[in-house]
Amino acid sequence: MRSPLLAAAAALSLAAPATATPPIMPAGGPPQPPARLVIAISVDQFAADLFDQYRPLFTGGFARLARQGTVFVNGYQSHAATETCPGHSTLLTGRHPAGTGIIANDWFDQGTARADKHVYCSEDESQPGTTFANYKVSPVHLRVETLGDRLKAVSPQSRNVAIAGKDRAAVMMGGHNVDQRWYWDGKVWSTDTGKAPPRTIAALNQLFTARLAQPSEPLVPPAVCTGRAKPYTVAPGLTVGNGSLQRGAGDLRFVRAHPDFDGAVLAGAAALVGELGLGKGPAADVLSVGLSATDYVGHAYGNGGQEMCLQVLSLDRELGDFLTRMDQTGVDYAVVLTADHGGMDLPERLKDRGNAEAQRADPALAAGELGKVLAPQFGRTEPVLQGAGIANDVWLDRRLDVATVRRVLAAALTRYRAHPQVYAAYSKAEIMKVAVPRGAPDKWSVIQRVRASYDPARSGDIYVVLKPYVSAIAVPAAGYVATHGSVWDYDRRVPIIFWRKGAAPANRTEPVETVDILPTIGPMIGLAVPAGGVDGRCLEGAAGVRCRQTLFISQTGFRP
Ligand SMILES: [Zn+2]
Repeated sequence: MRSPLLAAAAALSLAAPATATPPIMPAGGPPQPPARLVIAISVDQFAADLFDQYRPLFTGGFARLARQGTVFVNGYQSHAATETCPGHSTLLTGRHPAGTGIIANDWFDQGTARADKHVYCSEDESQPGTTFANYKVSPVHLRVETLGDRLKAVSPQSRNVAIAGKDRAAVMMGGHNVDQRWYWDGKVWSTDTGKAPPRTIAALNQLFTARLAQPSEPLVPPAVCTGRAKPYTVAPGLTVGNGSLQRGAGDLRFVRAHPDFDGAVLAGAAALVGELGLGKGPAADVLSVGLSATDYVGHAYGNGGQEMCLQVLSLDRELGDFLTRMDQTGVDYAVVLTADHGGMDLPERLKDRGNAEAQRADPALAAGELGKVLAPQFGRTEPVLQGAGIANDVWLDRRLDVATVRRVLAAALTRYRAHPQVYAAYSKAEIMKVAVPRGAPDKWSVIQRVRASYDPARSGDIYVVLKPYVSAIAVPAAGYVATHGSVWDYDRRVPIIFWRKGAAPANRTEPVETVDILPTIGPMIGLAVPAGGVDGRCLEGAAGVRCRQTLFISQTGFRP
């Protein structure tokens, strides 16, 4: 099952020989010395439900982190807009999307000078010649600093390096001030920094291009995966459920829905650590790793079948190899592993397994469709509403006069609220009356969740919430049969695991948030994260962390 890519990249052998690592005291003992390298790993669409389900089957990297680390089984991407870009924006900033400004993967900005008003989260739409489809990658929309940004501000010799399958993962985890940022642009491993590729990336591009030219080798599913195999026809001519993650030669699309894709990122990450000597410099470094294949597999096949089984068990092994390579560097590193959001399985399979609520959304709920239906009422031929898909943010056409906008708003809210698949539709005024919530995220009301990823300058004029288990994919297509993005816990709940060598392991069930990661990592590397500046809090004891250690170190000077 193992992808040969990681092994091949190991042959690049850029890592220096191992040196001894000093032991770290368990929680309650003397303070840990600051870690030299933080490795922040995001597994895209790795729902807590998925982690819980496969946890007994893991033998590789997930098993090691779960056995030796502090596992928060009830981590939350607490906000409503459970998409990749908002989710990644919370991981290393300590802020909810309401604070990061990354309210969705994409939005409509009717005030932008560009002709194409559809804006992607990690692009700079002010660049001439760009469109939503042909964008220039940039962190300009991210309104706050990441861990790497903060670290470099206090210790300029710190390195901030990001590599991910998706540009938005690398951008939102890396932030504004990166030394290296690499992501798959659909054809090659690419960067927005303008820097020439280091040897690692040049080699990765060569290796990956050669691999892409060949069809993927068949992954032989273990019995535990074949036990999950059952075909479901989700659209005419489209059946999923017992697939084997096969990819044809030169297939640039399905290469992403395959363990090879994560293998490439992990190979690149490991080789970058060696080539750049991360963790061996005069100050602590940060490496962000975005593993995107789980998300592509989830979208292409759902998360309940043989395909996802193959993906997560393959990733488990590759992650194990990656951590072994990290050990060989001799660097005292800390790991945090989590996800940008969870996911919902195919409604067809959920229904077959007894979930009576599972269904696909009515295509008429799409903002553009309803906008078309309402248009004649207001003397318009073009849709009076805009949106990126079904549900979540909906924007009113700003070319209408103020009185008409008000009437369109009322008409749209009435239509949405009357629909049997809609749980709620909120206006901007209603949402902005709510404060950005704090405290246990499992207790938040739905409108509080919406508020946590709402920005009045960017978000929709209406926010539409579908009922639980109504999939926002109305009409499945190849590569896109299941999704996430809802306010419900199957999309919000994610595992959060902290690991440091020698720290006492723990399995903790209290609800915590991905915004807690930054204030928890801070003390591990001696970085002060003032509590007032973030939405999260330091999680005492996570991988042995002592939350007040930051204060101690800041009083004695920045040590890393
Ligand atoms: Zn995602």
